[in-house]
Amino acid sequence: MPDRSESESRKLLGRLRDAMASSGAGQERLDRITTLVAESMGTEVCSIYLFRDRDTLELCATEGLRAEAVHQTRMRLGEGLVGRVARAGRVVNTADAPAERGFRYMPETGEEAYSSFLGVPIQRLGETLGVLVVQSREAREFTSDEVYALEVVAMVVAEMTELGAFVGEGSALEAPHQRPATFRASVGQEGVTMGHVWLHEPRVVVTKPIADDPEAERARLSEAVERLRVGVDRMLDGAAGGDAEHLQVLEAYRMFANSRGWLRRMEESIASGLSAEAAVEKEQSAARARLSQVSDPYLRDRLHDLDDLSHRLLRLLTGQGQAAESEMPADPILVARNIGPAELLDYGRRLKGVVLEEGSVGSHAAVVARALAIPLLVQADRIATEALNGDLIALDADQGIAHLRPDESVATAFRDKMAMQAAAQERYASIRDKPAEARCGTVVALHMNAGLMADLPSLESSGAEGVGLFRTELQFLIRNQMPRRSELSALYARIMKAAQGKRVVFRTLDIGSDKVLPYMNSVDEPNPALGWRAIRVGLDKPGVLRMQLQALVRAAAGGPLTVMFPFIAQYEEWRAARAEMDKALERERILGHPLPASLEVGAMLETPSLAFASRRFFEEVEFISIGGNDLKQFFFAADRENELVRRRYDTLNVSFLSFIEQIVDRCAETGTPLSFCGEDAGRPIEALCLAAMGIRTLSMRPASIGPVKHLLRRAHLGELREVIAEAKARGEQSVRPAVMDHLRR
Ligand code: PEP
Ligand code: MG
Repeated sequence: MPDRSESESRKLLGRLRDAMASSGAGQERLDRITTLVAESMGTEVCSIYLFRDRDTLELCATEGLRAEAVHQTRMRLGEGLVGRVARAGRVVNTADAPAERGFRYMPETGEEAYSSFLGVPIQRLGETLGVLVVQSREAREFTSDEVYALEVVAMVVAEMTELGAFVGEGSALEAPHQRPATFRASVGQEGVTMGHVWLHEPRVVVTKPIADDPEAERARLSEAVERLRVGVDRMLDGAAGGDAEHLQVLEAYRMFANSRGWLRRMEESIASGLSAEAAVEKEQSAARARLSQVSDPYLRDRLHDLDDLSHRLLRLLTGQGQAAESEMPADPILVARNIGPAELLDYGRRLKGVVLEEGSVGSHAAVVARALAIPLLVQADRIATEALNGDLIALDADQGIAHLRPDESVATAFRDKMAMQAAAQERYASIRDKPAEARCGTVVALHMNAGLMADLPSLESSGAEGVGLFRTELQFLIRNQMPRRSELSALYARIMKAAQGKRVVFRTLDIGSDKVLPYMNSVDEPNPALGWRAIRVGLDKPGVLRMQLQALVRAAAGGPLTVMFPFIAQYEEWRAARAEMDKALERERILGHPLPASLEVGAMLETPSLAFASRRFFEEVEFISIGGNDLKQFFFAADRENELVRRRYDTLNVSFLSFIEQIVDRCAETGTPLSFCGEDAGRPIEALCLAAMGIRTLSMRPASIGPVKHLLRRAHLGELREVIAEAKARGEQSVRPAVMDHLRR
């Protein structure tokens, strides 16, 4: 930018700041801005349009258009040139506005007199708050310097909007982040909860967007950039020798941190009058705006890096963004763009719920949230931008809805729902020590699923008979490096001790598909769920499996041990896995370590193929556990993580129940103990039907044990079996309506 326009721009920003500093209501400030900008840019018109709600823009102040139109003229997002700027988040610069595609004439404004039009988005952190427009009679395109100058002003207006500078009498504008907002999201972990927002990365507020000493600001920026670079170098040193891919990401990071273009653009913004933090934020806004428009995953990752770096830089410059844990509300609901599994685990059970802007149902964070039994919503678009620390938030993670700053009627409905849940919990507590015995006298064993040491106290409180599924992969997922054998065996020993003699079924590492370890080379697979996962990895690269089996034998220290292999699809895989177990025992024997007093080794039935395995398999295996989540996805060929199809097929579909019944029959022929440990085991109606089909052991989330037991104790499994048989005979697709009808009666 030439010096002349830089100093012009600085002068304009200086005048803006003086105007802002003087007292006056929000509307007066808006009016002053339009006057100053029109004057300084030599245009007849300057107008500010701000969002009234998510889809509507409103003319909030103008110099040059008719005053009566202020707060009257509105347009939908995407409508007219102003709507186009807002929707695309991009500049529109034209000499002949009426000839532009999408131009919409607003007679009440008197704008027909103006030919040229320049509109720039008013953006903060990628969120478009409105549009700043200048117009003039003379048909000309605005120069790039003029565009830049208007963008800088828009940046300042965005900061002021954020600070609530335009709120007040006559402005008809509400302060930002105060209205109730509803977000649709995908369900990562079900549950209903309400609490107060705790932002994983609190918003940085730029209180001084304008500065008059560019030299001083440049020095501040360069000092912060230097600290940032040192930090990135340190990260790289720490990661040296680690995973190649991780290093690559950090290298890209370093490249950005040292990028001349990035720094130059920020210095230009400072030269035109912005403070160092406003200059950084202008870059961040631009990166986010671009992010919303690219779909290429590689480019998106890089823009994410840039965004992340800008955020670090902002924190360095403002000293904000590190809220003290002591300020965390008593009922925190974590809101973040995304979060890693280890970070989530650090928060632990203190959290009442989690909402992420990104993430996926199968992400590691989701695995941890499930293990912690915390309701989780993912893909809640823009929530981290909208939410402020301390806002009330209600999550309906059954339906996939988050209500931010809910109005009183919604909050009351949630309070009622939660009170009902609490009352139900009390009812469940009263039957904790009673057996899950149905009216017909059949007893069903209820076990719990676990994956963390922190889960073990639930064994006592839930009344579970044991741990029917211990997912060992969580210990691997939450680390940056492969855990050592000694660490694992110490952990497994602690788990067995905490179980106080109750049976714990340790499932060997189940990775691949959705669960990718950051420190293991990932393979690019077209269909990860059908790919190289679980026992397939364990048998092809047996190092980790061997280490794990050895750790388990050592942890048992001569006591009983139960081990289960995931995702066995055919007899040979079972044989090979079982042989690994025998080898581990032999090695331990040679080393002189005590062998387990009793050992049970089982297999998970997660692919339909295994239900048709030879009789030998059923005879040899010591128990079978149906992994219903995977079994159902393969039975219906419907990805369990794909929102479009994952709820499409009912577990109570007659075909699926018949298949379960076949598995029950095959196990009965050989006397093989059978259990079911997918999510459906924890859904009361599903659990009841599984029991009616002959399954006598169910393993589920600890919180589900009460509701499942409560319903089981009131049911008659023989009658239910008849109801199911009749529905099948009538040719119904799902037995659910008939079962529900029966239970209501
Ligand atoms: C299952 O597939 O049902 C199961 C219990 O295993 P996971 O959910 O860990 O794949
Ligand atoms: Mg599974």
